[in-house]
Amino acid sequence: MELFLHYLTMPYMIEGIVATLQVTALGLLGGLILGVILAWMQLSRFKALAGFARVYTVIFRGTPLILQMVFAYNALPQIGIKLPAILAAGLALACNEAPFIAEMLRSGVLGVDRGQKLAGQALGMTPGVLMRRIIAPQAIRSMIPAFGNETVSALKNSSLASVIAVQELTLRSTQMASATFDFFSIFFASGLIYLVLTAAIAGIQLFLEWLFDLDRTSKQIRRNWLMPWSRARESDGPSAAADAEQPDILPDGGVAELPPPRASSERIDRGKRADTLARNNVAVDVAALRKSYDRQVVLDGVDLTVRIGEVIALLGPSGSGKSTLLRCINNLELWNGGTIKVGGRQLGFNAHGKALPPRLLAQARAEVGVGMVFQQFNLFGHLTAKENIAGPLRWVHGISRADADRRASELLARVGLSHRADALPRHLSGGQQQRVAIARAIAPNPSVLLLDEPTSALDPELVNEVLDVIRRLAVEDGLTMIISTHQLRFASEVADRVVLLAGGAIIEEGPADQVLNHPRNPVAQRFLSAMEAEVA
Ligand code: ADP
Ligand code: MG
Repeated sequence: MELFLHYLTMPYMIEGIVATLQVTALGLLGGLILGVILAWMQLSRFKALAGFARVYTVIFRGTPLILQMVFAYNALPQIGIKLPAILAAGLALACNEAPFIAEMLRSGVLGVDRGQKLAGQALGMTPGVLMRRIIAPQAIRSMIPAFGNETVSALKNSSLASVIAVQELTLRSTQMASATFDFFSIFFASGLIYLVLTAAIAGIQLFLEWLFDLDRTSKQIRRNWLMPWSRARESDGPSAAADAEQPDILPDGGVAELPPPRASSERIDRGKRADTLARNNVAVDVAALRKSYDRQVVLDGVDLTVRIGEVIALLGPSGSGKSTLLRCINNLELWNGGTIKVGGRQLGFNAHGKALPPRLLAQARAEVGVGMVFQQFNLFGHLTAKENIAGPLRWVHGISRADADRRASELLARVGLSHRADALPRHLSGGQQQRVAIARAIAPNPSVLLLDEPTSALDPELVNEVLDVIRRLAVEDGLTMIISTHQLRFASEVADRVVLLAGGAIIEEGPADQVLNHPRNPVAQRFLSAMEAEVA
Protein backbone atom coordinates (compact mmCIF):
# COMPACT_ATOMS: atom_id res chain seq x y z
CA MET A 1 0.00 0.00 0.00
CA GLU A 2 2.75 2.34 0.97
CA LEU A 3 4.59 1.54 -2.22
CA PHE A 4 1.46 2.15 -4.16
CA LEU A 5 1.08 5.64 -2.64
CA HIS A 6 4.75 6.21 -3.23
CA TYR A 7 4.30 5.58 -6.97
CA LEU A 8 1.28 7.84 -7.08
CA THR A 9 3.25 10.81 -5.80
CA MET A 10 6.56 10.19 -7.52
CA PRO A 11 7.72 13.16 -9.66
CA TYR A 12 8.66 10.66 -12.39
CA MET A 13 5.04 9.48 -12.61
CA ILE A 14 3.65 13.01 -12.24
CA GLU A 15 5.70 14.13 -15.22
CA GLY A 16 4.10 11.24 -17.09
CA ILE A 17 0.64 12.50 -16.13
CA VAL A 18 1.54 15.98 -17.37
CA ALA A 19 2.70 14.57 -20.72
CA THR A 20 -0.52 12.54 -21.00
CA LEU A 21 -2.60 15.65 -20.34
CA GLN A 22 -0.57 17.67 -22.84
CA VAL A 23 -1.05 15.16 -25.65
CA THR A 24 -4.76 14.84 -24.81
CA ALA A 25 -5.27 18.60 -24.72
CA LEU A 26 -3.41 19.11 -28.00
CA GLY A 27 -5.41 16.31 -29.60
CA LEU A 28 -8.75 17.63 -28.41
CA LEU A 29 -8.12 21.27 -29.13
CA GLY A 30 -6.65 20.59 -32.56
CA GLY A 31 -9.37 18.01 -33.20
CA LEU A 32 -12.02 20.55 -32.31
CA ILE A 33 -10.60 23.20 -34.64
CA LEU A 34 -10.13 20.73 -37.47
CA GLY A 35 -13.50 19.14 -36.71
CA VAL A 36 -15.31 22.48 -36.96
CA ILE A 37 -13.66 23.10 -40.34
CA LEU A 38 -14.53 19.60 -41.55
CA ALA A 39 -18.14 19.84 -40.38
CA TRP A 40 -18.48 23.26 -42.00
CA MET A 41 -17.10 21.84 -45.27
CA GLN A 42 -19.50 18.91 -45.16
CA LEU A 43 -22.51 21.14 -44.50
CA SER A 44 -21.45 23.64 -47.13
CA ARG A 45 -23.37 24.30 -50.33
CA PHE A 46 -20.20 23.69 -52.32
CA LYS A 47 -19.93 20.07 -53.38
CA ALA A 48 -16.13 20.13 -53.81
CA LEU A 49 -15.55 21.14 -50.17
CA ALA A 50 -17.91 18.45 -48.96
CA GLY A 51 -16.14 15.89 -51.13
CA PHE A 52 -12.73 16.85 -49.80
CA ALA A 53 -13.97 16.52 -46.23
CA ARG A 54 -15.37 13.07 -47.01
CA VAL A 55 -12.03 11.87 -48.39
CA TYR A 56 -10.21 13.19 -45.31
CA THR A 57 -12.69 11.38 -43.07
CA VAL A 58 -12.26 8.10 -44.90
CA ILE A 59 -8.46 8.27 -44.59
CA PHE A 60 -8.13 9.37 -40.97
CA ARG A 61 -10.99 7.32 -39.60
CA GLY A 62 -9.91 4.26 -41.53
CA THR A 63 -6.25 4.02 -40.45
CA PRO A 64 -4.92 3.19 -36.95
CA LEU A 65 -3.95 6.06 -34.69
CA ILE A 66 -0.67 4.35 -33.83
CA LEU A 67 0.28 4.44 -37.51
CA GLN A 68 -0.62 8.12 -37.74
CA MET A 69 1.56 8.88 -34.73
CA VAL A 70 4.54 7.06 -36.18
CA PHE A 71 3.94 8.84 -39.46
CA ALA A 72 3.88 12.28 -37.79
CA TYR A 73 7.05 11.56 -35.81
CA ASN A 74 9.16 9.54 -38.24
CA ALA A 75 7.90 10.27 -41.76
CA LEU A 76 7.20 13.99 -41.61
CA PRO A 77 10.89 14.84 -40.91
CA GLN A 78 11.71 13.32 -44.32
CA ILE A 79 9.76 16.16 -45.94
CA GLY A 80 11.35 18.71 -43.63
CA ILE A 81 8.73 18.90 -40.89
CA LYS A 82 10.41 17.92 -37.65
CA LEU A 83 8.21 18.03 -34.59
CA PRO A 84 9.01 17.32 -30.93
CA ALA A 85 7.50 13.98 -29.86
CA ILE A 86 4.67 15.54 -27.82
CA LEU A 87 3.66 17.83 -30.66
CA ALA A 88 3.81 15.00 -33.20
CA ALA A 89 1.62 12.85 -30.95
CA GLY A 90 -0.79 15.77 -30.38
CA LEU A 91 -0.99 16.45 -34.11
CA ALA A 92 -1.71 12.84 -34.96
CA LEU A 93 -4.34 12.62 -32.24
CA ALA A 94 -5.93 15.87 -33.46
CA CYS A 95 -6.09 14.64 -37.05
CA ASN A 96 -7.57 11.38 -35.83
CA GLU A 97 -10.15 12.99 -33.52
CA ALA A 98 -11.24 15.57 -36.11
CA PRO A 99 -13.55 13.36 -38.22
CA PHE A 100 -15.24 11.98 -35.12
CA ILE A 101 -15.74 15.46 -33.70
CA ALA A 102 -16.95 16.69 -37.11
CA GLU A 103 -19.59 13.94 -37.21
CA MET A 104 -20.67 14.91 -33.70
CA LEU A 105 -20.98 18.55 -34.70
CA ARG A 106 -22.82 17.61 -37.86
CA SER A 107 -25.34 15.42 -36.08
CA GLY A 108 -25.86 18.18 -33.51
CA VAL A 109 -26.54 20.74 -36.22
CA LEU A 110 -28.77 18.42 -38.25
CA GLY A 111 -30.63 17.48 -35.07
CA VAL A 112 -31.97 20.97 -34.53
CA ASP A 113 -35.63 21.11 -35.52
CA ARG A 114 -36.02 22.01 -39.20
CA GLY A 115 -39.03 24.14 -38.41
CA GLN A 116 -36.91 26.46 -36.27
CA LYS A 117 -34.41 26.90 -39.08
CA LEU A 118 -37.27 27.74 -41.42
CA ALA A 119 -38.67 30.22 -38.91
CA GLY A 120 -35.25 31.86 -38.57
CA GLN A 121 -34.93 32.16 -42.32
CA ALA A 122 -38.44 33.56 -42.59
CA LEU A 123 -37.48 36.21 -40.04
CA GLY A 124 -34.63 37.29 -42.29
CA MET A 125 -31.72 35.71 -40.41
CA THR A 126 -28.57 35.25 -42.47
CA PRO A 127 -26.99 31.76 -42.35
CA GLY A 128 -24.39 33.11 -39.92
CA VAL A 129 -26.92 34.57 -37.49
CA LEU A 130 -29.04 31.44 -37.74
CA MET A 131 -26.03 29.30 -36.87
CA ARG A 132 -24.83 31.49 -34.00
CA ARG A 133 -28.14 32.32 -32.37
CA ILE A 134 -30.43 29.40 -33.09
CA ILE A 135 -28.59 26.28 -34.20
CA ALA A 136 -25.31 26.32 -32.26
CA PRO A 137 -26.78 26.97 -28.79
CA GLN A 138 -29.16 24.03 -29.22
CA ALA A 139 -26.67 21.78 -30.98
CA ILE A 140 -23.99 22.28 -28.33
CA ARG A 141 -26.34 21.14 -25.61
CA SER A 142 -27.14 17.92 -27.41
CA MET A 143 -23.46 17.28 -28.16
CA ILE A 144 -22.12 17.45 -24.60
CA PRO A 145 -22.52 13.71 -23.82
CA ALA A 146 -20.86 12.69 -27.09
CA PHE A 147 -18.07 15.18 -26.51
CA GLY A 148 -17.55 13.73 -23.02
CA ASN A 149 -17.14 10.32 -24.62
CA GLU A 150 -14.68 11.67 -27.15
CA THR A 151 -12.59 13.33 -24.42
CA VAL A 152 -12.31 10.08 -22.47
CA SER A 153 -11.33 8.19 -25.58
CA ALA A 154 -8.71 10.83 -26.48
CA LEU A 155 -7.23 10.57 -22.99
CA LYS A 156 -6.90 6.80 -23.27
CA ASN A 157 -5.63 6.98 -26.85
CA SER A 158 -2.88 9.35 -25.73
CA SER A 159 -1.18 6.28 -24.24
CA LEU A 160 -0.34 5.19 -27.81
CA ALA A 161 2.11 8.08 -27.89
CA SER A 162 4.46 5.78 -25.97
CA VAL A 163 5.40 4.21 -29.31
CA ILE A 164 7.07 7.43 -30.38
CA ALA A 165 8.79 7.77 -27.03
CA VAL A 166 6.56 10.44 -25.56
CA GLN A 167 7.22 10.14 -21.85
CA GLU A 168 3.56 9.84 -20.93
CA LEU A 169 2.00 7.91 -18.10
CA THR A 170 1.80 4.48 -19.73
CA LEU A 171 5.41 4.58 -20.94
CA ARG A 172 6.69 5.77 -17.57
CA SER A 173 4.72 3.02 -15.82
CA THR A 174 6.16 0.27 -18.00
CA GLN A 175 9.66 1.67 -17.67
CA MET A 176 9.33 1.84 -13.92
CA ALA A 177 7.86 -1.64 -13.76
CA SER A 178 10.67 -3.20 -15.78
CA ALA A 179 13.20 -1.51 -13.50
CA THR A 180 11.59 -2.51 -10.17
CA PHE A 181 9.57 -5.61 -11.13
CA ASP A 182 6.80 -4.22 -8.91
CA PHE A 183 4.24 -4.69 -11.67
CA PHE A 184 1.19 -4.90 -9.46
CA SER A 185 1.56 -1.65 -7.49
CA ILE A 186 2.78 0.36 -10.44
CA PHE A 187 0.09 -0.67 -12.90
CA PHE A 188 -2.54 -0.41 -10.19
CA ALA A 189 -1.35 3.13 -9.46
CA SER A 190 -1.29 4.18 -13.08
CA GLY A 191 -4.72 2.59 -13.71
CA LEU A 192 -6.06 4.55 -10.78
CA ILE A 193 -4.63 7.79 -12.17
CA TYR A 194 -6.38 7.16 -15.50
CA LEU A 195 -9.61 6.48 -13.62
CA VAL A 196 -9.30 9.71 -11.63
CA LEU A 197 -8.71 11.67 -14.83
CA THR A 198 -11.67 10.12 -16.65
CA ALA A 199 -13.85 10.63 -13.57
CA ALA A 200 -12.88 14.31 -13.63
CA ILE A 201 -13.95 14.46 -17.28
CA ALA A 202 -17.28 12.86 -16.37
CA GLY A 203 -17.68 15.47 -13.63
CA ILE A 204 -17.02 18.32 -16.03
CA GLN A 205 -19.50 16.78 -18.45
CA LEU A 206 -22.21 16.65 -15.78
CA PHE A 207 -21.49 20.24 -14.82
CA LEU A 208 -21.78 21.40 -18.44
CA GLU A 209 -25.02 19.46 -18.88
CA TRP A 210 -26.38 21.21 -15.81
CA LEU A 211 -25.14 24.57 -17.07
CA PHE A 212 -26.85 24.16 -20.42
CA ASP A 213 -30.03 22.67 -18.99
CA LEU A 214 -32.86 24.88 -20.15
CA ASP A 215 -35.11 24.08 -17.22
CA ARG A 216 -32.48 25.57 -14.97
CA THR A 217 -33.54 28.97 -16.26
CA SER A 218 -36.97 28.49 -14.81
CA LYS A 219 -35.50 27.27 -11.53
CA GLN A 220 -33.36 30.39 -11.49
CA ILE A 221 -36.45 32.51 -11.82
CA ARG A 222 -38.05 30.61 -8.98
CA ARG A 223 -35.03 31.13 -6.77
CA ASN A 224 -35.01 34.81 -7.57
CA TRP A 225 -38.54 34.98 -6.40
CA LEU A 226 -37.97 33.05 -3.19
CA MET A 227 -34.84 35.08 -2.44
CA PRO A 228 -35.57 38.55 -3.78
CA TRP A 229 -32.20 39.87 -2.59
CA SER A 230 -30.52 37.66 -5.18
CA ARG A 231 -32.85 38.83 -7.90
CA ALA A 232 -31.01 40.06 -10.93
CA ARG A 233 -33.73 41.94 -12.71
CA GLU A 234 -36.92 43.63 -11.65
CA SER A 235 -38.98 42.08 -14.38
CA ASP A 236 -39.01 38.48 -13.10
CA GLY A 237 -42.48 38.65 -11.64
CA PRO A 238 -43.93 36.15 -9.19
CA SER A 239 -46.38 34.81 -11.73
CA ALA A 240 -43.55 33.76 -14.01
CA ALA A 241 -42.05 31.81 -11.14
CA ALA A 242 -45.34 30.19 -10.24
CA ASP A 243 -45.92 29.22 -13.85
CA ALA A 244 -42.48 27.76 -14.21
CA GLU A 245 -43.21 25.59 -11.23
CA GLN A 246 -46.22 23.95 -12.80
CA PRO A 247 -45.59 23.85 -16.49
CA ASP A 248 -48.37 21.40 -17.17
CA ILE A 249 -51.18 23.06 -15.30
CA LEU A 250 -51.66 26.10 -17.43
CA PRO A 251 -53.74 28.92 -16.07
CA ASP A 252 -54.87 29.35 -19.59
CA GLY A 253 -58.05 31.34 -19.66
CA GLY A 254 -58.02 31.19 -23.43
CA VAL A 255 -59.64 34.23 -24.94
CA ALA A 256 -60.08 35.67 -21.46
CA GLU A 257 -56.31 36.34 -21.34
CA LEU A 258 -56.52 38.78 -24.20
CA PRO A 259 -56.84 42.46 -23.50
CA PRO A 260 -60.20 43.98 -24.47
CA PRO A 261 -60.41 44.82 -28.16
CA ARG A 262 -59.35 48.30 -29.11
CA ALA A 263 -62.14 50.59 -30.20
CA SER A 264 -62.02 50.55 -33.95
CA SER A 265 -64.15 51.20 -36.92
CA GLU A 266 -65.37 47.62 -37.42
CA ARG A 267 -65.59 46.45 -40.97
CA ILE A 268 -69.30 47.02 -41.04
CA ASP A 269 -69.81 47.79 -44.65
CA ARG A 270 -68.09 45.14 -46.66
CA GLY A 271 -68.90 46.76 -49.94
CA LYS A 272 -67.31 50.04 -48.93
CA ARG A 273 -64.26 48.25 -47.62
CA ALA A 274 -63.86 46.31 -50.84
CA ASP A 275 -63.91 49.58 -52.79
CA THR A 276 -61.23 51.10 -50.57
CA LEU A 277 -59.04 48.01 -50.81
CA ALA A 278 -59.37 47.92 -54.57
CA ARG A 279 -57.74 51.36 -54.70
CA ASN A 280 -54.83 50.31 -52.48
CA ASN A 281 -51.45 49.42 -53.90
CA VAL A 282 -50.58 45.82 -54.59
CA ALA A 283 -48.84 44.09 -51.67
CA VAL A 284 -48.27 40.66 -53.19
CA ASP A 285 -48.38 39.77 -56.84
CA VAL A 286 -48.10 36.16 -57.91
CA ALA A 287 -48.16 35.56 -61.66
CA ALA A 288 -48.24 32.25 -63.52
CA LEU A 289 -46.47 30.48 -60.67
CA ARG A 290 -45.38 26.94 -61.42
CA LYS A 291 -43.78 24.64 -58.91
CA SER A 292 -43.07 20.95 -58.94
CA TYR A 293 -41.28 18.53 -56.68
CA ASP A 294 -39.40 16.12 -58.90
CA ARG A 295 -42.07 15.20 -61.42
CA GLN A 296 -45.06 16.02 -59.24
CA VAL A 297 -46.57 19.34 -60.33
CA VAL A 298 -47.92 21.10 -57.25
CA LEU A 299 -48.68 24.61 -58.53
CA ASP A 300 -49.57 24.90 -62.16
CA GLY A 301 -49.99 28.53 -63.16
CA VAL A 302 -51.24 30.28 -60.03
CA ASP A 303 -52.15 33.98 -60.31
CA LEU A 304 -52.93 35.94 -57.18
CA THR A 305 -52.96 39.66 -56.46
CA VAL A 306 -53.28 40.84 -52.88
CA ARG A 307 -53.77 44.53 -52.08
CA ILE A 308 -52.46 46.33 -49.04
CA GLY A 309 -54.75 45.76 -46.06
CA GLU A 310 -56.51 42.83 -47.68
CA VAL A 311 -57.11 39.57 -45.83
CA ILE A 312 -57.09 36.48 -48.01
CA ALA A 313 -58.27 33.09 -46.82
CA LEU A 314 -56.57 30.32 -48.73
CA LEU A 315 -58.67 27.17 -48.77
CA GLY A 316 -58.10 23.85 -50.42
CA PRO A 317 -57.83 20.14 -49.76
CA SER A 318 -54.80 18.81 -47.95
CA GLY A 319 -51.94 18.51 -50.43
CA SER A 320 -53.33 21.15 -52.78
CA GLY A 321 -50.21 23.28 -52.40
CA LYS A 322 -51.29 25.92 -49.87
CA SER A 323 -48.09 25.65 -47.82
CA THR A 324 -45.98 25.49 -50.95
CA LEU A 325 -47.56 28.70 -52.26
CA LEU A 326 -46.95 30.52 -48.98
CA ARG A 327 -43.35 29.28 -48.80
CA CYS A 328 -42.73 30.45 -52.36
CA ILE A 329 -44.07 33.93 -51.54
CA ASN A 330 -41.46 34.16 -48.79
CA ASN A 331 -38.78 32.56 -50.96
CA LEU A 332 -38.34 29.66 -48.59
CA GLU A 333 -38.82 27.48 -51.64
CA LEU A 334 -37.52 27.78 -55.18
CA TRP A 335 -40.06 27.60 -57.98
CA ASN A 336 -39.93 26.55 -61.63
CA GLY A 337 -41.71 29.37 -63.44
CA GLY A 338 -43.60 32.60 -63.01
CA THR A 339 -42.90 35.64 -60.88
CA ILE A 340 -43.63 36.70 -57.34
CA LYS A 341 -43.45 40.32 -56.26
CA VAL A 342 -43.82 41.62 -52.74
CA GLY A 343 -44.20 45.37 -52.46
CA GLY A 344 -43.32 45.64 -56.15
CA ARG A 345 -40.01 43.90 -55.59
CA GLN A 346 -38.92 40.48 -56.80
CA LEU A 347 -37.66 38.97 -53.59
CA GLY A 348 -34.64 36.74 -54.00
CA PHE A 349 -33.38 38.09 -57.31
CA ASN A 350 -31.05 40.93 -58.18
CA ALA A 351 -31.74 43.60 -60.80
CA HIS A 352 -30.61 41.23 -63.56
CA GLY A 353 -32.94 38.46 -62.46
CA LYS A 354 -30.16 36.34 -60.96
CA ALA A 355 -30.91 34.40 -57.77
CA LEU A 356 -29.32 35.95 -54.67
CA PRO A 357 -26.98 33.95 -52.41
CA PRO A 358 -28.46 33.02 -48.99
CA ARG A 359 -26.97 35.98 -47.10
CA LEU A 360 -28.30 38.60 -49.49
CA LEU A 361 -31.63 36.80 -49.78
CA ALA A 362 -31.96 37.00 -45.99
CA GLN A 363 -31.27 40.72 -46.06
CA ALA A 364 -33.82 41.23 -48.83
CA ARG A 365 -36.38 39.27 -46.84
CA ALA A 366 -35.81 41.45 -43.79
CA GLU A 367 -36.10 44.62 -45.89
CA VAL A 368 -39.27 43.62 -47.73
CA GLY A 369 -40.85 42.26 -44.55
CA VAL A 370 -42.80 39.07 -45.04
CA GLY A 371 -43.88 37.67 -41.69
CA MET A 372 -44.64 33.98 -41.44
CA VAL A 373 -46.61 31.92 -38.93
CA PHE A 374 -46.30 28.15 -39.13
CA GLN A 375 -48.67 25.32 -38.38
CA GLN A 376 -46.19 23.87 -35.88
CA PHE A 377 -45.44 27.28 -34.25
CA ASN A 378 -41.68 26.78 -34.70
CA LEU A 379 -40.67 28.88 -31.70
CA PHE A 380 -36.98 28.82 -30.84
CA GLY A 381 -36.84 26.14 -28.15
CA HIS A 382 -33.95 27.58 -26.14
CA LEU A 383 -35.37 31.11 -25.88
CA THR A 384 -38.11 32.46 -23.63
CA ALA A 385 -41.31 33.86 -25.12
CA LYS A 386 -39.94 37.38 -24.82
CA GLU A 387 -36.55 36.48 -26.32
CA ASN A 388 -38.28 34.76 -29.23
CA ILE A 389 -39.70 38.15 -30.13
CA ALA A 390 -36.89 40.48 -29.05
CA GLY A 391 -33.97 38.34 -30.29
CA PRO A 392 -34.68 38.56 -34.03
CA LEU A 393 -35.31 42.30 -33.72
CA ARG A 394 -31.79 42.74 -32.37
CA TRP A 395 -30.00 40.23 -34.60
CA VAL A 396 -31.76 40.97 -37.87
CA HIS A 397 -32.85 44.57 -37.59
CA GLY A 398 -30.10 45.89 -35.33
CA ILE A 399 -32.55 47.29 -32.78
CA SER A 400 -31.08 48.02 -29.33
CA ARG A 401 -31.76 45.60 -26.50
CA ALA A 402 -33.91 48.09 -24.59
CA ASP A 403 -36.06 48.92 -27.61
CA ALA A 404 -36.39 45.29 -28.65
CA ASP A 405 -37.44 44.32 -25.11
CA ARG A 406 -39.96 47.13 -25.02
CA ARG A 407 -41.46 46.04 -28.34
CA ALA A 408 -41.57 42.41 -27.18
CA SER A 409 -43.36 43.33 -23.94
CA GLU A 410 -45.83 45.46 -25.83
CA LEU A 411 -46.63 42.63 -28.25
CA LEU A 412 -46.87 40.02 -25.49
CA ALA A 413 -49.42 42.24 -23.80
CA ARG A 414 -51.37 42.47 -27.04
CA VAL A 415 -51.57 38.70 -27.38
CA GLY A 416 -52.44 38.38 -23.68
CA LEU A 417 -49.22 36.74 -22.56
CA SER A 418 -47.39 39.32 -20.44
CA HIS A 419 -47.45 36.90 -17.51
CA ARG A 420 -45.63 34.25 -19.57
CA ALA A 421 -42.82 36.44 -20.89
CA ASP A 422 -40.09 34.38 -19.22
CA ALA A 423 -41.53 30.96 -20.02
CA LEU A 424 -39.85 28.61 -22.45
CA PRO A 425 -41.94 27.46 -25.43
CA ARG A 426 -42.24 23.93 -24.08
CA HIS A 427 -43.82 25.28 -20.91
CA LEU A 428 -46.56 26.99 -22.92
CA SER A 429 -49.77 25.52 -24.27
CA GLY A 430 -50.11 25.20 -28.04
CA GLY A 431 -52.40 28.19 -28.22
CA GLN A 432 -49.98 30.30 -26.21
CA GLN A 433 -47.06 29.19 -28.37
CA GLN A 434 -48.91 30.18 -31.51
CA ARG A 435 -49.77 33.57 -30.03
CA VAL A 436 -46.07 34.14 -29.26
CA ALA A 437 -45.24 33.05 -32.81
CA ILE A 438 -47.71 35.58 -34.20
CA ALA A 439 -46.24 38.31 -31.99
CA ARG A 440 -42.75 37.35 -33.21
CA ALA A 441 -43.83 37.50 -36.84
CA ILE A 442 -45.44 40.94 -36.58
CA ALA A 443 -42.70 42.45 -34.38
CA PRO A 444 -40.67 43.90 -37.29
CA ASN A 445 -43.84 45.41 -38.84
CA PRO A 446 -43.98 43.16 -41.91
CA SER A 447 -45.72 44.42 -45.01
CA VAL A 448 -47.54 41.12 -45.31
CA LEU A 449 -48.19 38.28 -42.88
CA LEU A 450 -48.48 34.71 -44.14
CA LEU A 451 -50.20 32.24 -41.83
CA ASP A 452 -49.98 28.57 -42.74
CA GLU A 453 -52.86 26.72 -41.07
CA PRO A 454 -52.17 28.52 -37.80
CA THR A 455 -54.74 26.55 -35.80
CA SER A 456 -54.49 23.07 -37.34
CA ALA A 457 -52.07 21.72 -34.74
CA LEU A 458 -54.13 22.98 -31.82
CA ASP A 459 -56.56 21.20 -29.53
CA PRO A 460 -60.10 22.38 -30.38
CA GLU A 461 -60.49 24.41 -27.19
CA LEU A 462 -57.36 26.43 -27.98
CA VAL A 463 -58.32 27.38 -31.53
CA ASN A 464 -60.39 30.40 -30.62
CA GLU A 465 -57.71 32.26 -28.66
CA VAL A 466 -55.47 32.17 -31.72
CA LEU A 467 -58.24 33.09 -34.18
CA ASP A 468 -59.14 35.97 -31.91
CA VAL A 469 -55.59 37.35 -32.08
CA ILE A 470 -55.58 37.05 -35.88
CA ARG A 471 -59.00 38.67 -36.14
CA ARG A 472 -57.74 41.65 -34.16
CA LEU A 473 -54.69 42.04 -36.37
CA ALA A 474 -57.00 42.21 -39.35
CA VAL A 475 -59.51 44.59 -37.83
CA GLU A 476 -57.37 46.80 -35.59
CA ASP A 477 -54.11 46.91 -37.53
CA GLY A 478 -55.37 46.49 -41.06
CA LEU A 479 -52.51 44.07 -41.66
CA THR A 480 -52.22 42.45 -45.09
CA MET A 481 -52.61 38.73 -44.53
CA ILE A 482 -52.80 35.48 -46.43
CA ILE A 483 -54.14 32.72 -44.18
CA SER A 484 -54.37 29.13 -45.25
CA THR A 485 -57.06 27.60 -43.08
CA HIS A 486 -59.78 25.02 -42.75
CA GLN A 487 -61.89 27.27 -40.51
CA LEU A 488 -64.74 28.21 -42.82
CA ARG A 489 -66.59 30.37 -40.33
CA PHE A 490 -63.48 32.31 -39.49
CA ALA A 491 -62.75 32.75 -43.16
CA SER A 492 -66.21 34.10 -43.83
CA GLU A 493 -65.96 36.52 -40.89
CA VAL A 494 -62.47 37.85 -41.42
CA ALA A 495 -61.43 37.36 -45.03
CA ASP A 496 -62.06 40.00 -47.68
CA ARG A 497 -61.53 37.38 -50.29
CA VAL A 498 -61.51 33.59 -50.30
CA VAL A 499 -59.23 31.76 -52.68
CA LEU A 500 -59.79 28.08 -53.30
CA LEU A 501 -56.81 26.07 -54.46
CA ALA A 502 -57.17 22.60 -55.99
CA GLY A 503 -55.29 20.53 -58.51
CA GLY A 504 -52.47 23.07 -58.73
CA ALA A 505 -54.68 26.02 -59.67
CA ILE A 506 -57.09 28.52 -58.17
CA ILE A 507 -60.52 27.12 -58.97
CA GLU A 508 -62.69 29.68 -57.22
CA GLU A 509 -61.98 33.15 -55.93
CA GLY A 510 -64.06 36.04 -54.64
CA PRO A 511 -65.79 37.57 -51.64
CA ALA A 512 -66.23 35.07 -48.81
CA ASP A 513 -70.01 35.02 -49.05
CA GLN A 514 -69.97 34.27 -52.74
CA VAL A 515 -67.28 31.56 -52.68
CA LEU A 516 -68.46 29.81 -49.53
CA ASN A 517 -72.18 29.93 -50.15
CA HIS A 518 -72.51 29.93 -53.91
CA PRO A 519 -69.47 28.23 -55.43
CA ARG A 520 -69.71 27.69 -59.17
CA ASN A 521 -66.96 25.16 -59.72
CA PRO A 522 -68.17 21.58 -59.04
CA VAL A 523 -64.88 20.63 -57.33
CA ALA A 524 -65.26 23.66 -55.07
CA GLN A 525 -68.83 22.67 -54.31
CA ARG A 526 -67.78 19.17 -53.34
CA PHE A 527 -64.86 20.36 -51.20
CA LEU A 528 -66.93 22.95 -49.35
CA SER A 529 -69.83 20.61 -48.64
CA ALA A 530 -67.37 18.01 -47.33
CA MET A 531 -65.83 20.66 -45.07
CA GLU A 532 -69.24 21.75 -43.81
CA ALA A 533 -70.25 18.17 -43.13
CA GLU A 534 -67.11 17.79 -41.03
CA VAL A 535 -67.88 20.87 -38.96
CA ALA A 536 -71.53 19.93 -38.42
P1 ADP B 1 -51.04 21.76 -48.42
O1 ADP B 1 -50.34 22.76 -47.57
O2 ADP B 1 -52.14 22.36 -49.23
O3 ADP B 1 -51.53 20.59 -47.65
P2 ADP B 1 -48.42 21.30 -49.51
O4 ADP B 1 -48.02 22.56 -50.14
O5 ADP B 1 -47.86 21.00 -48.17
O6 ADP B 1 -50.01 21.20 -49.49
O7 ADP B 1 -48.04 20.09 -50.45
C1 ADP B 1 -48.45 20.01 -51.78
C2 ADP B 1 -47.88 18.74 -52.40
O8 ADP B 1 -46.48 18.86 -52.52
C3 ADP B 1 -48.15 17.50 -51.59
O9 ADP B 1 -48.49 16.47 -52.47
C4 ADP B 1 -46.84 17.20 -50.91
O10 ADP B 1 -46.67 15.82 -50.78
C5 ADP B 1 -45.83 17.79 -51.87
N1 ADP B 1 -44.67 18.33 -51.16
C6 ADP B 1 -44.69 19.34 -50.28
N2 ADP B 1 -43.45 19.61 -49.84
C7 ADP B 1 -42.63 18.75 -50.47
C8 ADP B 1 -41.21 18.53 -50.45
N3 ADP B 1 -40.38 19.27 -49.69
N4 ADP B 1 -40.70 17.55 -51.23
C9 ADP B 1 -41.51 16.81 -52.01
N5 ADP B 1 -42.84 16.97 -52.08
C10 ADP B 1 -43.41 17.92 -51.33
MG1 MG C 1 -49.99 22.78 -45.54
